[in-house]
Amino acid sequence: MRAAVLEGVRIVAMRDLPEPTHPGDHEVLLRVGAVGMCGSDIHYYTRGRIGSQMVRYPFVVGHEFGGKVLATGRAVTRVKPGDRVAVDPAMPCFACDQCQAGRFHTCRKHTFLGCPGQSAGCLCERIVMPETSCFAVPAGFSDEDAALVEPLSIGCYAVKLAGLSAGSRILIQGCGPVGLSVLLAARDAGAERVAVSEPLAYRRACASRLGADWAGLPDETDAYLAEREPLGVDLVFECCGEQAAMDQALTLLKPGGKLMLIGIPEFDRASFAVDLLRRKELCLQNVRRQNDCVEAAIALLEHRPEARAMITHRFDFEQTAAAFETVAGYRDGVVKAMVRLSP
Ligand SMILES: [Zn+2]
Ligand SMILES: [Zn+2]
Repeated sequence: MRAAVLEGVRIVAMRDLPEPTHPGDHEVLLRVGAVGMCGSDIHYYTRGRIGSQMVRYPFVVGHEFGGKVLATGRAVTRVKPGDRVAVDPAMPCFACDQCQAGRFHTCRKHTFLGCPGQSAGCLCERIVMPETSCFAVPAGFSDEDAALVEPLSIGCYAVKLAGLSAGSRILIQGCGPVGLSVLLAARDAGAERVAVSEPLAYRRACASRLGADWAGLPDETDAYLAEREPLGVDLVFECCGEQAAMDQALTLLKPGGKLMLIGIPEFDRASFAVDLLRRKELCLQNVRRQNDCVEAAIALLEHRPEARAMITHRFDFEQTAAAFETVAGYRDGVVKAMVRLSP
């Protein structure tokens, strides 16, 4: 089968790889239909690592995909051949203390699709996944829709973890696919006012289309919020991984507010103004991918079909290298790029 293989920093080649093995009793063989390019894939592409996770070449990345069930193991009950599925790329052990506590996303022994040292990714024609990762999608969903469920699930999870409620006033910093997913989920959860800061004009335009009340430049944000939210905002969702954004968040939050840290910084250490943290009794909450929000994300896409506007670029499978370059260079107004494997 064909696969897009990372062979070095900024090197992606199309190769023929062996077919996956027969699905085991609790596994499902899937035909990959569409793969979303994620910021984390791009980090592996441009730097060969995220933090301590290093790519050993050759390696196949990719973890956002939708596709169809080709065959199922004997004990599989969740899906059947022909079903279109959204895939949760996390494969927890279901046995450790974290899994026992329902924290599957921080499982001690989990493997994650397309994560170096754990599991090869989905930029290939066929793949085997555990049935627990497969979620049948509604009839109207395409493979691309199913692939979009993964980033949307992170937005759903961040909003749930934040305790966002009807009436919340929030700021989202950074409007890539994850920031936009937070925006959609926050609107769906009844956020009263949603401001968005983002340096790129086309991404601000996308945020406005998807329901932001205000979308401005990061350095316009203080002045805007000083007027609109003089008491401070309830929640800031940092979706850009920038030190300046974290600093700004602490000044804009109201006392008792919460900073949700979602972005993946390119640096190893961040700093926080401890005096502000202490006097305002602010809460810092890290967000690690998502937990148990795939179904919520499917429902979100049903309620908010405009989420599909996030998909700005489509590439044929053989053009995967161009997809990486486009996303890595923030070229051509790209928000979410999809690689399409089958028509
Ligand atoms: Zn992703
Ligand atoms: Zn576990």
